[in-house]
Amino acid sequence: MNLVWYRNDLRVHAHRPLAQALAQGEPVLALYCLCPAQWDEHGVAPLRRWYVLESLRELGASLASLGVDLHVLEVGDFAAVPDALASFVQAHGVHRIYCSREYPLNELERDRAVAAHMEALGVSLHGSDDSVLVPPRTLNTGKGTPYTVFSAYKRRWDAWLDDHFSAPAALPAPAKKSGHFVGKPLVERALKALSVAPSLTAKWQSGEKAALKQLDHFVQTRLADYRRYRDFPALDATSSLSVALSAGTLSPASCYRAAREAMADAGQRDGAACWIGELAWRDFYRQIMARFPRISQGRAFRPETEWLQWDDDDERFAAWCEGRTGYPLVDAAMRQLVATGWMHNRLRMVTAMFLSKHLWLDWRRGEAFFMQHLIDGDFAANNGGWQWSASTGTDAVPYFRVFNPVRQSQRFDPQGRFIAHWVPALRELDDKSIHEPWKQPLLAPDYPPPVVEHQGVRERVTREFKAAKALHDQQENTQA
Ligand SMILES: Cc1cc2nc3c(=O)[nH]c(=O)nc-3n(C[C@H](O)[C@H](O)[C@H](O)COP(=O)(O)OP(=O)(O)OC[C@H]3O[C@@H](n4cnc5c(N)ncnc54)[C@H](O)[C@@H]3O)c2cc1C
Repeated sequence: MNLVWYRNDLRVHAHRPLAQALAQGEPVLALYCLCPAQWDEHGVAPLRRWYVLESLRELGASLASLGVDLHVLEVGDFAAVPDALASFVQAHGVHRIYCSREYPLNELERDRAVAAHMEALGVSLHGSDDSVLVPPRTLNTGKGTPYTVFSAYKRRWDAWLDDHFSAPAALPAPAKKSGHFVGKPLVERALKALSVAPSLTAKWQSGEKAALKQLDHFVQTRLADYRRYRDFPALDATSSLSVALSAGTLSPASCYRAAREAMADAGQRDGAACWIGELAWRDFYRQIMARFPRISQGRAFRPETEWLQWDDDDERFAAWCEGRTGYPLVDAAMRQLVATGWMHNRLRMVTAMFLSKHLWLDWRRGEAFFMQHLIDGDFAANNGGWQWSASTGTDAVPYFRVFNPVRQSQRFDPQGRFIAHWVPALRELDDKSIHEPWKQPLLAPDYPPPVVEHQGVRERVTREFKAAKALHDQQENTQA
């Protein structure tokens, strides 16, 4: 018996482990380990849990139509997975397991423990790098080290894919005609136990069918203009496929193939090339996570920035979380996050930099808050984005570069449409004053004044980063 062990790869299309298992010509089982205690430990948003459970529902039905029974085990946390899996394979006579590799540290440790258990039982474990386009250990600099600068990585990434990319193979014919969604009652129970407001879930469609449709719609209607409009949050100009990609209801290979095919059309070429660049960022942060395990341990990528002395101000943090910093674009973005479970990329950068530089609060607090709310919460991309914005990460923005939240607002929401949608108290203001409402306090009496002044932020940040570097160097010299 062959087993497909599902994790963040909740689909049947373009799924190498499933194709490999079916190709053996023997019966295939599928398994998903539900780990609510691990979700709690990782601070996973309730909305994301809902998306995963709903997508599992669809997966169970799709697998059944391929003659594959999907079992679901509730196992608590990752530490309990190896024993649970060992009992399962023994009970079902499994001798081969296929799965898609995962790279965060906890997941790697879980998989190492599982591999040891399976070896003892004589069960072989076959992993494939299905969640990325380029496997994370493939590309190295001339010195044999991992790439830590995106532009250099991207050049090699493009070249590697030109030589190696092949479209996912079609699934072989199953050995059995129909299967059974064995884990359905458990998934239904878990969904019932979740408390997520219907207003949140109503905006989202789970499962791989919806994801494939969404990809197709994006390519047909928005890809051509992606480069031109992607930075404007009031426009629906990006794919919103991050949730599907992070839960694996969609494969990056399907996205890459669709964008490459679109490039054959001159009108789509530029937009498609730009969008492929975003898929490269996704792979880049995954290879950073796989090759620098310290970032999975709450540590900064740049060791000297571990010495930064952050403020500990709960009032300011609450103002940021609740969208009442007095900076309209920041507040609109934070309200979008809490109300929808998603935030536009430009705004993730703006709000992350605002928290870490204007409010001088530890980026890890913001990283955790994002995870607690994002439907697409993905450790590698979230950590990469936060460390980029806070200037503690690989290829991060230089520390002395501080986005001016008013300038960002004027540039990327020129008519204030996005702001007016999320911050009703500012709807009466015109295009100009909506970015700086403190200049018209009588027109927006219910909107708070700025929690900090922009002026002086750059000087403080520079001072703090220099002080951290000095402390770090002092420590290094003491140890030498
Ligand atoms: C502070 C911060 C936190 C972030 N947290 C997450 C997160 O938890 N999960 C997540 O998927 N993305 C995260 N991102 C990256 C990016 O903001 C989202 O992927 C993007 O906004 C999703 O919208 P989209 O699907 O319409 O993207 P598109 O513009 O359509 O891009 C296509 C795909 O490329 C990938 N992608 C795009 N930008 C990035 C990027 N900068 N880094 C890595 N992958 C990227 C995503 O998978 C995305 O779906 C974060 C960025 C920042 C600055």
